[in-house]
Amino acid sequence: MKKSILLIALIVLLLILGCNSKSKKTTSTEQELPQNPIIQKIAELKASGYEIVDYHAHLKGGLTMEELLKHSKKTGIDYGVAFNAGVGFPITNDSTLLANYNQYKDYPVLMAMQAEGREWVNMFSKENISTFDYVFTDAMTWTDTKGRRMRLWMPEEVFVDDKDDFMDQLVGKIVGVIENEPIDLYVNATFLPDILQAEYDALWTKDRMDKVINASVTNNIAIEINARYKIPSATFIKRAKAAGVKFSMGTNNTGKELGTLDYAIEMIDECGLEPADFFKPVKKEVQRK
Ligand SMILES: [Zn+2]
Repeated sequence: MKKSILLIALIVLLLILGCNSKSKKTTSTEQELPQNPIIQKIAELKASGYEIVDYHAHLKGGLTMEELLKHSKKTGIDYGVAFNAGVGFPITNDSTLLANYNQYKDYPVLMAMQAEGREWVNMFSKENISTFDYVFTDAMTWTDTKGRRMRLWMPEEVFVDDKDDFMDQLVGKIVGVIENEPIDLYVNATFLPDILQAEYDALWTKDRMDKVINASVTNNIAIEINARYKIPSATFIKRAKAAGVKFSMGTNNTGKELGTLDYAIEMIDECGLEPADFFKPVKKEVQRK
């Protein structure tokens, strides 16, 4: 009798121990699995031949290169880190441009120059510009026909007297940037100021889209799909893809949060984008002195 009680007690004890060790094992395995579905999606896309690169990241809001690389490891996203150069930015001449380049060039990221305003073309030497892996700009800073310099992301600096006239001027500026400035990418593409954003689909008519798309194809300039502003629209992207435009993915973070390119990743399926539809910077290693 005593023996059988002891045996039962032993079995119960073993069962309890077994359950405990099992539940501990399950917990540690779960912690190692990627919890975020977008991170799983990124891994799947990479396995099918897509290069998942955020070509428009900034070291802003105190974000360090080390933190960026940690995020890259966690998400599987590779990075192009962009340095803003132009009037009103920390980089305004060749020496500050190169000092910045040299400070970060040895990290395992692509080095990008984000050119600001329209004046940048005459502020830096061609040779120094070409030191970077790629160069991009947007058309968010320009002067209208009445001489008003606008920064479209600042509501108090935006002047819209007539919506169609504003749009035609904006499209003219974008086409000018694509045709005349030595860039690889046009970013924050199709951005509209706050006051017009609700009318995006109506204001970006087929004719206006095609002007930007044709300039991009003719000049071999890629167009960014921006995750922060969720632009361009799927309609624009499909139209641009059909015309042969190449795309880049970008975040344009203003703070430490880099995110996971959600909108751009979403557009891959929605617009049927294939690996060959994406921009790739020409490797510059061989050209560097
Ligand atoms: Zn930027």
